[in-house]
Amino acid sequence: MSLHASLRFLTKYKVLICNVRYASQAMPQLSSEKYNVKRKDFAKVQNSDVNHFKSLLSEDRVLTEDGDVLPFNIDWIKNCRGQSKVVLKPKSTAEISAVLKYCNDRKLAVCPQGGNTGLVGGSVPVFDEVVINLMLMNKIINLDCISGSLVCEAGCILETLENHVKEHGLIMPLDLGSKGSCHIGGNVSTNAGGQRLVKYGNLHGSVLGLEAVKANGIIVDCLKTLKKDNTGYHLKHLFIGSEGTLGVVTKVAIHCPVLPKAINVAYFGVNTFDEVLQVFKRAKSSLGEIVSAFEMMDNYSIKTVIKNMNLTNPLPDYPFYVLLETHGSDIEHDTEKLTRFLSKEIDEGQVLNGIIASETAKIQAIWNLRENIPAAGLRDAGYLFTSDISLPAANYYQIVPMLRERLSSKVKSVYGFGHLGDGNIHINVALSEFNEEMLSLIENIMYEEVAKLNGSISAEHGVGFYKPKYIHYSQDDSALQVMRELKQLMDPNGILNPYKVLPETKN
Ligand SMILES: Cc1cc2nc3c(=O)[nH]c(=O)nc-3n(C[C@H](O)[C@H](O)[C@H](O)COP(=O)(O)OP(=O)(O)OC[C@H]3O[C@@H](n4cnc5c(N)ncnc54)[C@H](O)[C@@H]3O)c2cc1C
Repeated sequence: MSLHASLRFLTKYKVLICNVRYASQAMPQLSSEKYNVKRKDFAKVQNSDVNHFKSLLSEDRVLTEDGDVLPFNIDWIKNCRGQSKVVLKPKSTAEISAVLKYCNDRKLAVCPQGGNTGLVGGSVPVFDEVVINLMLMNKIINLDCISGSLVCEAGCILETLENHVKEHGLIMPLDLGSKGSCHIGGNVSTNAGGQRLVKYGNLHGSVLGLEAVKANGIIVDCLKTLKKDNTGYHLKHLFIGSEGTLGVVTKVAIHCPVLPKAINVAYFGVNTFDEVLQVFKRAKSSLGEIVSAFEMMDNYSIKTVIKNMNLTNPLPDYPFYVLLETHGSDIEHDTEKLTRFLSKEIDEGQVLNGIIASETAKIQAIWNLRENIPAAGLRDAGYLFTSDISLPAANYYQIVPMLRERLSSKVKSVYGFGHLGDGNIHINVALSEFNEEMLSLIENIMYEEVAKLNGSISAEHGVGFYKPKYIHYSQDDSALQVMRELKQLMDPNGILNPYKVLPETKN
């Protein structure tokens, strides 16, 4: 399946999920009821507010009809549902500034939203927050092909940017399964990781500069394209990964590396996780700088994707699978290097069997197995608990058998897959139906163990709405206190994405 076909498929799949869920009685329960949250003391949107928004934007960019607003209230995984009555679609930074200034003065809470592909419930309102969706802020402003700096508006879709820079011999430094829908502003706001992080690093490095609007409407212009700029505090980092709680990102300058001339993918089976680790270690030493992704999928992950997404596994049944991708500059040299590596691993018995793909369609067919695991998991679970944690390599997979043992017959299945190359594992726990007690049990067990294993409760998806009460497992009180001080400084009325990221303080 080609890249485009696969994305069309994913989009079709999302529509299918929507239809099934909306048509049945299974429209997601209101987040506030499901998670027992108390509304904070914000003002409520009045007709006069709606009229004012219409005067700031235009009538057609202020949505108030229930049917129009509903999709913006429900998250990608169909687990959260907010109660917003108004969705705004600004077209410029000036419009966002005017909207935020007004909301701040009126103490109306807002929820900044990009492509709404976030997986921690951060992208949709909890109560009646005004949704500010950036989909119409989608202009590419400039691409400097020599330095590789791309400047664009925050609502540009990642895949659109990828296609654009590709025409100029460049590549986006990040790649996500959601690239057909997610926005670069959403990527920056979540500090998205993805498959290529092992080669191109994270967004704190790739983002050269940005423009953001504070809660009070003040525009913060840090839209630099310089690689080196040590003048004062590096404010861009405040907005990278702060999940819409410190400001709305409106423009992004990002460094795009040179498009690799040679891309290869090896896909192979391994018997034990210890052997996966050994192969990883040797891959880094033998293939060095060309390794761009090292993804691990356990047997259950692959079985789920084969069964639910109508895909074919080119290999027999093995306990673990690895997808190893290389990005380099010489196809013959890279293919030969990768073939030599894989053959040696097979000969020495560490790898059971494997294949190498160099053609785009074949590469994508292998990536489809990995990228469709999140969607596949949703298909046969009444409720799918998904988590994104990071662990030191040696402890990486321990959590899966541990959860299977502790949760045993209470759940349908537990499986793990993820970016082993950067220590990030995604854990899926499938339940027959949503059950608050069960959810709390799973989370408590998982995050306690993550802390014991020196990991982080969020590797790349963020904290969002789901994880504030567990953030203490990964952040010291002293760090949390500084975060609260920053929030107070940037957004004294707390209007930006409330109920997300920082836990409530106990009075
Ligand atoms: C199939 C699939 C695969 C995925 N794979 C990965 C992966 O490999 N790695 C990864 O890191 N994530 C992954 N994700 C999660 C998600 O795609 C990323 O978190 C992405 O960066 C979210 O971008 P978005 O535009 O959809 O943001 P949204 O989901 O709309 O928002 C996410 C958060 O950012 C805030 N936000 C959005 N835009 C702005 C803005 N302009 N200014 C301020 N705040 C804003 C929102 O308030 C929210 O808190 C995946 C999701 C799916 C569905």
